[in-house]
Amino acid sequence: MTRITVAKGDGIGPEIMDATLDIILAAGAQLDIDEIEVGEKVYLAGNTSGISKESWDSLRRNKVFLKAPITTPQGGGYKSLNVTTRKMLGLYANVRPCTSLHPFVKTKHPVMDVVIIRENEEDLYAGIEHQQTDEVVQCLKLISRPGCEKIVRYAFEYARQYGRKKVTCFTKDNIMKQTDGMFHQVFEEVAKEYPDIENEHWIVDIGAAKLADTPEAFDVIVMPNLYGDVLSDVAAQIAGSVGLAGSANIGEECAMFEAIHGSAPRRAGQNLANPSGLLQGAIMMLNHIGQTDVAERVQNAWLKTIEDGIHTYDIYKEGVSKQKVGTKEFAQAVIANLGQQPSTLKPVSYAKGTTLKLPKYQRKSNGTKELVGVDVFVHWKGTKADELATLLNPVNTPDLKLSMITNRGIKVWPDGFDETFCTDHWRCRFLPANGHPVNSRHIIDVLSKAIDEQIDTIKTENLYAFNGKPAFSMGQGQ
Ligand code: NAD
Repeated sequence: MTRITVAKGDGIGPEIMDATLDIILAAGAQLDIDEIEVGEKVYLAGNTSGISKESWDSLRRNKVFLKAPITTPQGGGYKSLNVTTRKMLGLYANVRPCTSLHPFVKTKHPVMDVVIIRENEEDLYAGIEHQQTDEVVQCLKLISRPGCEKIVRYAFEYARQYGRKKVTCFTKDNIMKQTDGMFHQVFEEVAKEYPDIENEHWIVDIGAAKLADTPEAFDVIVMPNLYGDVLSDVAAQIAGSVGLAGSANIGEECAMFEAIHGSAPRRAGQNLANPSGLLQGAIMMLNHIGQTDVAERVQNAWLKTIEDGIHTYDIYKEGVSKQKVGTKEFAQAVIANLGQQPSTLKPVSYAKGTTLKLPKYQRKSNGTKELVGVDVFVHWKGTKADELATLLNPVNTPDLKLSMITNRGIKVWPDGFDETFCTDHWRCRFLPANGHPVNSRHIIDVLSKAIDEQIDTIKTENLYAFNGKPAFSMGQGQ
């Protein structure tokens, strides 16, 4: 018996959760179930996180969470429960298998069988945003070495465990050389430990185009959070329907399993919704807790039901489907097929699919870190960078001297172009004036001179060299 926490959610949530539990329990899942209330009711009762302390206790005790979709009320500062749960429980890996069910579910990609593994905790989703000037807001993109290593290793371990042949990495490291650059570099390093699995890297734009056009070229794809968010929906949709896909959110301690779609409030309470997405999530959960034989029985019965043409309204198609059914009838049909295998679609075998346990991340020893300059960001209403450089002349100190100004990353001084459009947000780079090492006091001297000159400094960003290599971006055009 494994004790799990279940939330029936909002909208179509309770119906699809009941259907899912009926199926997996009929298949022999050995589960003790603790039910918690999360979502709309909790939000509207005044809890802006959508989850109570008692519910957190249940999740942290049981460590396995099967969650139906919830409704996040619009406005009112309600925080997304999904994002909160992923981060609070350290669920760093989001896993979404996207497999077409041709010819039983309409798709342009009959042989698609892709697993998207998305980093789930960092990147732009740190949610650290600031308005800095009248014209400019920023969002910090944070990528960490532990974050990259954990997700990339997870992707290779997943591939090995599920008998997959290739892991592809998508990044935009031609532009984001530090952040996406680290993700790509870690991918290359970790790939060397898995010589039995093919590896490749694509720039995300052309990779996404190829995925949408020729998904059969891919097997497992690993990527940072934002690209993964977008492309996992694309992959699920082109495989047939977002209504059919489930996802797993895996951490070192805890895991959460769900459908990828939302609470579809307009369909709620009508016995219409397709429970397949949540069922796919539940199957991943059964594999995760080691009940692989049950997972296999359920998946094969589900494939057989789809193949029999017993379809809910969302995938029902005249000429292909045989019978249009409601949520409950669909569940009954899957239960009736338990023990059977599909004949056209490929039956699954999860013999090897036991719990995927990764070693805990080991911190690396520190490298050498040297302060080599500072970027001072300035709010200034002028438009000519030369004028700003003149204003900043008195800010130079014997130790640090203005060396470059950029606007939205483009070098505009020295030798800028009149054609470059400039906002009121300027990055002013100060480098050593005399080749001496830089220290924090030198930066403070620059800032206090800037105050004397009534320069509106928004923030500073220290420039470091790690292990002797500059670890910051150049200005575009520099
Ligand atoms: P949605 O996924 O709920 O619905 C999109 C469309 O797909 C609708 O036409 C809906 O009827 C249909 N659909 C979705 N699931 C279906 C199913 N199982 N069977 C049949 N048809 C299905 O997306 P939305 O309308 O943008 O969002 C509705 C609510 O869900 C919002 O409050 C949103 O915040 C929430 N949401 C929750 C989650 C989650 O809890 N994981 C994810 C996405 C959206």
